[in-house]
Amino acid sequence: MSEDIPFDRSFDLAPGKVEEVYPGVRRLLCNNPGPFTFKGTVSYIVGRGRVAVIDPGPLDEAHIKALLDTLKGETVTHIFVTHTHRDHSPAAARIKAATGAPTFGEGPHRAARELHLDEAPRLDASGDREFHPDTVLADGDVVAGDGWRLEAVATPGHTANHMAFALKDSEVLFSGDHVMAWSTPVVAPPDGAMSDYMASLEKLLHRPETIYFPGHGGAVRDAPRFVESYIRHRRGREQSILDRLAEGEASIPVLVQKIYVGLDPRLIKAAGLSVFAHLEDLVARGVIVADGSPSLDSVYRLRG
Ligand SMILES: [Zn+2]
Repeated sequence: MSEDIPFDRSFDLAPGKVEEVYPGVRRLLCNNPGPFTFKGTVSYIVGRGRVAVIDPGPLDEAHIKALLDTLKGETVTHIFVTHTHRDHSPAAARIKAATGAPTFGEGPHRAARELHLDEAPRLDASGDREFHPDTVLADGDVVAGDGWRLEAVATPGHTANHMAFALKDSEVLFSGDHVMAWSTPVVAPPDGAMSDYMASLEKLLHRPETIYFPGHGGAVRDAPRFVESYIRHRRGREQSILDRLAEGEASIPVLVQKIYVGLDPRLIKAAGLSVFAHLEDLVARGVIVADGSPSLDSVYRLRG
């Protein structure tokens, strides 16, 4: 894996232990570690007394109980969801049932583009199709609670409905899976789209927030510079793909083998999807062509 990004993998929060990570912001780790979730999903609590919960997490009984126990004696007034992957949104229904708080998000799960014939099952694997926000947020909407305000920042790419939330009057952005300190996120068609993802990174460069609290792992410090390194990393990966294609046509497995040296075998499939995301973008931009409509099984070459 490329290490041109200044990753920070230090993160030692114990599952179920609440921690104030910033004035007025608490976090709680779910015990669902894995190659895509790092130590697990991080849920955030914004405010004191009358609070918002951001990303209640997966349907994990211990985590749901820990969240509700932590908030005993307080009132949950809002539930925000950054996106509808199963490690982020399913517990929203349970927290809502227990507290009566309404849910907020960009919208239900959807693909970034129309599906090809064979893609539907893959989309179902990671998406939470049950979640429908009570209040649909648009980019720039500001939701005010008791002592806090959150601005919706539409950041499609990891998923089509991905939304970050800026804590107004602070330097904090809740970045979901869009920007994380420990890794880049998977951008996998058809849930994700590389062109959207890159545009969403550029968008954050122009925002004032400097500390990001992601859905997995610890805080991103010096955030705009970190985002720049993310952008450089993706452009570098795109260039590696183009360099390989300059030697001749290639399939996705061939490109993965060439580009991801020393890859964790559990991540090969995700790497293939990530390369596919780049290829799809390059085809749309007219830089390369596929034999037929771009798919995981296509062969790709530079446009002659
Ligand atoms: Zn996700």
